[in-house]
Amino acid sequence: MDASQQQLFDLLKLQKIDSSVDQLQARLGSLPEQRELEDLEQRYRDLERKTAEREAELDEVLGRQRKLEHEIDGCTQKIEYEQKRMNSGDISNVRELSGLAAEIESLKRRKDRFEDDDLEVMQERETLEGTIDAMRVDLDQLQQQIQSVTQKRDEASAEVSKELDAQKDSRASWAPRLPGDLVGYYEGLRSTKSGVGAAPLQGSTCMGCHMKLPAQEVERVRKANGLVRCDECGRILVVVDRKQD
Ligand SMILES: [Zn+2]
Repeated sequence: MDASQQQLFDLLKLQKIDSSVDQLQARLGSLPEQRELEDLEQRYRDLERKTAEREAELDEVLGRQRKLEHEIDGCTQKIEYEQKRMNSGDISNVRELSGLAAEIESLKRRKDRFEDDDLEVMQERETLEGTIDAMRVDLDQLQQQIQSVTQKRDEASAEVSKELDAQKDSRASWAPRLPGDLVGYYEGLRSTKSGVGAAPLQGSTCMGCHMKLPAQEVERVRKANGLVRCDECGRILVVVDRKQD
């Protein structure tokens, strides 16, 4: 394929634009703010799940507490009932009276045990409620952080997108200056060579593969007319300092 020196210079310019587009697209796909945001969202979900687990525990504790309080009420009512019976004077049988007194004592001991348990459950409940409150505060803080990082991410993304659009515009206006078959050839190389299809020869180094070429090879490239490719990497090699020869 033939190409004039000017076309090769123009091709290098196109390569520069394409490399910028590639870099900007890569930047857009790996914004640090995006990673930070994903990290925060993950932490939020984890904490939300843990909070839900604690809330389920609290529900269970509240259920136990209600049951205990129901038992305590039951004991209180029975004690009152039995005490009324004892004090009513209706029962005069001594054995029956002492049986009743024993029953009341037994109910009181039972009630004491329920009350001890209730106290323990109350402490469990307070601890859990404190933990859940602290978790909710953390969730709120995370939510605020997420909002602020989302805003930063959007700003960064808009900035890179703007640059990207500008580079794409400049590519769209630059590419038609070059022969279609040359651009097609260059693009074919670009697609198999990490996005770089054309590179300058700087001194004796191919800037595509960064290899120092042997003197003989440098001479071949410098003397060649038209399109020439690097022996090492196969990219189009453009002599940019020909005038100094
Ligand atoms: Zn090379």
